[in-house]
Amino acid sequence: MQTNRRQFLGLAAGGAALAAAGTGSARAARVPTNARIVILGAGAAGSALANQLNDALDGAKITIVDERKRHLYQPGFTLIGAGLKPAGYSVSTTAEWLPSAAEWIEEAAAEIDPEARTVTTTGGTTVAYDYLMVATGLKLDWDAIEGFSLDLVGKDGVGAVYAGPDYAAKTWQAMDRFTEEGGEGLFFRPATEMKCAGAPLKYTFLTDDYARKKGTRGKTNITYAAHSGSLFGVPIVNEKVRMLYDDRGFETVYNHVMKAIDPGRKTVTFETPEGEAELPYDFTNVIPPMRAPDVIRNSPLPWADRWTDQGWVEVDPHTMRHTRFPEIFAVGDVAGVPKGKTAASVKWQVPVAVDQLVSDIAGRDATETYNGYTSCPLITRVGRAMLIEFDYNNDLVPSFPGIIAPLEELWISWLMKEIALKATYNAMLRGRA
Ligand SMILES: Cc1cc2nc3c(=O)[nH]c(=O)nc-3n(C[C@H](O)[C@H](O)[C@H](O)COP(=O)(O)OP(=O)(O)OC[C@H]3O[C@@H](n4cnc5c(N)ncnc54)[C@H](O)[C@@H]3O)c2cc1C
Repeated sequence: MQTNRRQFLGLAAGGAALAAAGTGSARAARVPTNARIVILGAGAAGSALANQLNDALDGAKITIVDERKRHLYQPGFTLIGAGLKPAGYSVSTTAEWLPSAAEWIEEAAAEIDPEARTVTTTGGTTVAYDYLMVATGLKLDWDAIEGFSLDLVGKDGVGAVYAGPDYAAKTWQAMDRFTEEGGEGLFFRPATEMKCAGAPLKYTFLTDDYARKKGTRGKTNITYAAHSGSLFGVPIVNEKVRMLYDDRGFETVYNHVMKAIDPGRKTVTFETPEGEAELPYDFTNVIPPMRAPDVIRNSPLPWADRWTDQGWVEVDPHTMRHTRFPEIFAVGDVAGVPKGKTAASVKWQVPVAVDQLVSDIAGRDATETYNGYTSCPLITRVGRAMLIEFDYNNDLVPSFPGIIAPLEELWISWLMKEIALKATYNAMLRGRA
């Protein structure tokens, strides 16, 4: 199908507008209740939950617990790290996304007692709940990397796009310098579950693209050290990425798990089945292991027999409801489900958890289920991306079948990332997508 730029733009904008329109017009009558609902975390999932619950329930006491004053639009970090957006692009305030009818306690949760049904905050306040929504996101475990400190970011070729907007901007400065000069570019991901597993791959592609544009690719080696035997968990996507990596001339090594960095010698140490291996870098994007926040790991909520070093919350993968504490749900990155650590997944998980909770209160059967939908626009160069969407079965589930081919490097998929995603994300925070 031939479609021109104008039509593509209209489609991208239309997609965002559709998401923005969301469920608002067909809203069901609010269910009366005096239930006490506590939401831990006011990020992507927590804000969306607060708004959807506030819209669906009449009289509920909704309390949000989160100490963070800044809301961070994390999908923007890659664009900041590629010099395409300023650091401020990802930053707004937590307050602007929360419903005014809800109470916001500006402290972190320090302890959860699911038997007593209470949460205690870092300031010592104890809040009782009838329902608990766990939406704390995850913890970037920088301390697990020997030799690393965030003070290194931006200096001597050390980048860390995941660390936040300011660090992403510093990473861009380091990448910009590197692609002027050439040398060894070294990329990898952690062996734990991680948010947006496409992001390490995207950043490798972007570095290559800048080196080519600046004419330094000939004096640049790019190595990707995969933590397992593949580059991406979905086999068909893995195959496509492997072909693109070959095509771009990346060296790929497998079963390399990052352990330590030596900024003086500019080397990274990996654990491999053959023992430790050291690889050199002139530029690297450090991505740490990811785990549930300590308050979750120190509580009875995680799985006992899965991800034991990571602590994700034990929920039914289709309802997001805790399997041992039925009045508790987990949504977003902290949920112990086999896929779904993306903002796009949050968009599909939140209505499921809300439907479960509201149906409990209304005394009816819930109907919504989550199928593992995960999406990551996989940037392959500036102006091109593949809109990868998949489910628990590793089946591709394209949102625009016949229009956007998931495994093709397209400009429209780039627009989805660069323009439409943020509008859709913001609508989601407001509970309208
Ligand atoms: C570099 C990068 C690129 C990405 N690209 C994409 C993309 O292209 N597409 C996509 O869909 N997704 C992408 N993501 C992933 C996406 O941003 C996350 O999956 C999403 O933000 C998860 O939402 P969340 O609410 O679970 O966590 P968050 O949005 O991180 O929010 C968690 C909140 O919980 C709070 N919290 C933490 N501990 C506590 C505590 N003890 N008590 C109370 N509150 C607490 C935090 O302060 C925070 O406000 C990307 C992420 C990164 C880092």
